[in-house]
Amino acid sequence: MSLYIVATPIGNMGDITFRAIETLKKVSLIACEDTRYTRKLLSHYDIHTPVTSYYEYNKIKKIDYLLEQLTSGRDIALVSDSGTPGISDPGFLIISEAIKNRIQVISIPGPSAAISALVIAGLPTDSFVFEGFLPRKKGKLRKTLIELAALRRTIVFYESPYRITTTLKIMQEAIGNQYIVIARELTKHFEEVLRGDLDTLIPRLEAQPLKGEMVLLFNPSFTPLENPTD
Ligand code: SAM
Repeated sequence: MSLYIVATPIGNMGDITFRAIETLKKVSLIACEDTRYTRKLLSHYDIHTPVTSYYEYNKIKKIDYLLEQLTSGRDIALVSDSGTPGISDPGFLIISEAIKNRIQVISIPGPSAAISALVIAGLPTDSFVFEGFLPRKKGKLRKTLIELAALRRTIVFYESPYRITTTLKIMQEAIGNQYIVIARELTKHFEEVLRGDLDTLIPRLEAQPLKGEMVLLFNPSFTPLENPTD
């Protein structure tokens, strides 16, 4: 029995590996966050494996069932709504519990929004810090941003379109007029990369709020030669 950690597309249905499809076909069960969402992917690739939900609010309740399936000899694939399971989703719990129970955990690699954004951002990639989602409360967010800026390397984090402008304003207050990159709707129809300093980008976002999924990146020790605001 094995637990396969299967990466799925972050938008474009074509971004899935042959091995991911084979794995999703051959396992006994697919554990996923939103079953309706994953069923769309499965039906696109003609995959008929049963699915079961495993998401933030049922993960504790579901653990015993999933471990029981694994220890009784069934292979399970873990997928998330998008990208690589275990990255800013409930994956860690089942992965660590599987390891404790001496179940083999196998990675089926593929897209992740953080890495996809990092490689096109144009910020140094030799060393970076991925922070997932930052704290929502202003005080904590401010403190986190100051700590991250002190690391002086590329910082990558996820942000919601509902909070992006507020986050940028707190960032401007906390660490000054930082040059940032926002990679939005990667692999999708409205894919866009915004590059510029906070003084330029904040008014732009206030005038025209950004929609969709996004990754925010900055590197306090990097100054672009020109300011390539898109
Ligand atoms: N497991 C996923 C991964 O490997 O990228 C991340 C899951 S996390 C719950 C979802 C967040 O990832 C979104 O809120 C957004 O910040 C980012 N994201 C996902 N898809 C994206 C895309 N196509 N373009 C930009 N950001 C994306």
